[in-house]
Amino acid sequence: MVSCNISLPGVRTSIYLWSNCDVPFDGGVLPEKCRPYDNFECLRLDLFGQNLRSASADLRDGFDLAMVYYGNVDEVGHLRGPDSQALEEELINVDYWIGDFLAALERDGLRNGTDVVIVSDHGMTDTRGRTSTRITNFIDGDLIERACDLGPHMQVLLLKTP
Ligand SMILES: [Zn+2]
Repeated sequence: MVSCNISLPGVRTSIYLWSNCDVPFDGGVLPEKCRPYDNFECLRLDLFGQNLRSASADLRDGFDLAMVYYGNVDEVGHLRGPDSQALEEELINVDYWIGDFLAALERDGLRNGTDVVIVSDHGMTDTRGRTSTRITNFIDGDLIERACDLGPHMQVLLLKTP
């Protein structure tokens, strides 16, 4: 999850279920609209659709930036696997709501002037059948200060380079 508040003075921003949108940024700037992050709400597909509809309404009403977070693709991927039927169904549902959002932009005459950016915090790969992977196959070991193994996750702290 990206934890940031990119509200700037003079930029009308609405943020839905985004971490720290309720924390003032750089001298006290807050987004005009903020639905704070919630561990359970960010997993609800119905709220994702509702939040996307709110975001498109905000853009129609003159907001410059609208951000919506949805965490269930990640959650389902972790719980059921990247090649699971459950994740495929989740992606189909997300695709539906993004299509609904783009159609709203089209209806409102905003499609050509709006940049839509979809981001993810990481990819996934099926690791069943593998018992180990050497991190040094991917990163120069001399650059690693510390690594923590958390099952299928690995957190790596790199040394600061000059
Ligand atoms: Zn994840």
